[in-house]
Amino acid sequence: MPLARLATALLDLAIPSACAVCGMPGGALCAQCERAMPVPHDVRCERCAHPWPHRTPTCAECPPGVTWARYAMPYDSVVAGVISALKDSRRTGLAEPLAQLMVQRIPPPAAGSVLVPIPQSPARRRERGFNQAELLASHLAREWGLPMRGVLTRPDGGRQQRGASRGARLGQVQGAFVAQGRVPHQAVLVDDVLTTGSTITAAARTLRAAGSARVGAVVTARVVLAGMGTRVG
Ligand SMILES: [Zn+2]
Ligand SMILES: [Zn+2]
Repeated sequence: MPLARLATALLDLAIPSACAVCGMPGGALCAQCERAMPVPHDVRCERCAHPWPHRTPTCAECPPGVTWARYAMPYDSVVAGVISALKDSRRTGLAEPLAQLMVQRIPPPAAGSVLVPIPQSPARRRERGFNQAELLASHLAREWGLPMRGVLTRPDGGRQQRGASRGARLGQVQGAFVAQGRVPHQAVLVDDVLTTGSTITAAARTLRAAGSARVGAVVTARVVLAGMGTRVG
């Protein structure tokens, strides 16, 4: 473990309940900082929730391949710090309050949906020791009363897997994801951040190629185009 990471881990042991934003005691994300997290604008694209000056049924920012997408917070510097504390500083206790924000701000997916966390490559998994998307998805599964199935994998370096089905090979070409086992008819991808949408799109296309009829996506935070008016509230 690198020295800086060890220092953070030790600090976490010493003050396990310090807020990741303000450093005050009171939980991984204190109530005050949780209330101050940016809120998605409600004038937006109906399909992907990207904010726009007017409502629109679809938009240029809709990630291709997904039926719908929702996010809990527009990505800004404060949100970036919280996500980095979760991923890079291994403050895994942040997964629960972040999932709570998602539950508060994202309507529950339709009954029959199955949550599918975006997987990491085995190398990344070894390096970090956990998959933040999986942590978020397991909290969401409990809160929404939906099953979670890790039917996607992400081979190291996009290497071809022998014996993979045609759909799985297609998935590898499209974005280094492979579907394993029976994929859900109605899947909902779970990830921490949606930036360009290319990861979500590649994962959705892999699921569709393997037989999913509908693929939605929920993320903790989304990078939205500047000037589209995100309010803080
Ligand atoms: Zn705080
Ligand atoms: Zn859209």
